Amino acid sequence: MGRPATRDVVCYHCRGRIEVPRSARTVTCPCCFKGLLLDDLVVSTSGWPGKLETCGVVRINKRARTVTRFVQAGDGVEVQGVLEAKVCTSGGVVVRRGGHVKGDIVATSITVEPGATLEGLSLCIRPLPSASRQ
Ligand SMILES: [Zn+2]
Repeated sequence: MGRPATRDVVCYHCRGRIEVPRSARTVTCPCCFKGLLLDDLVVSTSGWPGKLETCGVVRINKRARTVTRFVQAGDGVEVQGVLEAKVCTSGGVVVRRGGHVKGDIVATSITVEPGATLEGLSLCIRPLPSASRQ
């Protein structure tokens, strides 16, 4: 059996659950007609200019210092550098050794490695909404 040709993602604009081709990198949400990024976002330099939004994973690399208003990631967030933002993900947040997160976090799980820093957080860890919301 091969992998299914589609995957389910949640639109980060309207929260609609949509099915997208597994090979797609961007898609237009059929509910709100806004563009969605499906690829992972990897930030490896400081000074990211805007919001970080994707249905994939947001990763803040070592030595990147990212100060932004909002991070929305469908599949999770991994921080090896510095992230100052409100983080909202339907996946987990992982803060690696040397990583530093300042801001509120909404996620389904959080992993903080020894040597990582969390600062001034309000945390909301909650299970995924049921997948069978049809
Ligand atoms: Zn939408």
